[in-house]
Amino acid sequence: MKCLICNNEELTEVFKQVPTYIWTGISCSMEKYKTILYQCSKCSHIQQNINKDLEDKLEKIYLSNEAQLSTGFSESNWGGAENAVYIG
Ligand SMILES: [Zn+2]
Repeated sequence: MKCLICNNEELTEVFKQVPTYIWTGISCSMEKYKTILYQCSKCSHIQQNINKDLEDKLEKIYLSNEAQLSTGFSESNWGGAENAVYIG
C-alpha cells in the first residue's frame, strides 16, 4: 500500500476496529468490513486501504437512485442534535 497523496510506502497502522457495517447504526443484511486506518510517515495523511470489493459496492450505492434519500437517525442519534439545527 502506498500513500494516496505522496506515494510513500511507509505507512503506520493508527486505528483498528472490529469489522463493521458501512453506515453507523444500520445493521440490516449488509456485510461488515475491516476498519483500519494508516498514517503516512512522510506527509502524515491518514487513509484507509479500500479493496476492490468495497470500492465496487460503494460505487454502486453512490450511483443508485436511493443515494440521495435521507434516512432516520439511528438509536444512538449520533449527530442528531447537531443536525436538528439544519433540518428541524
Ligand atoms: Zn504521504
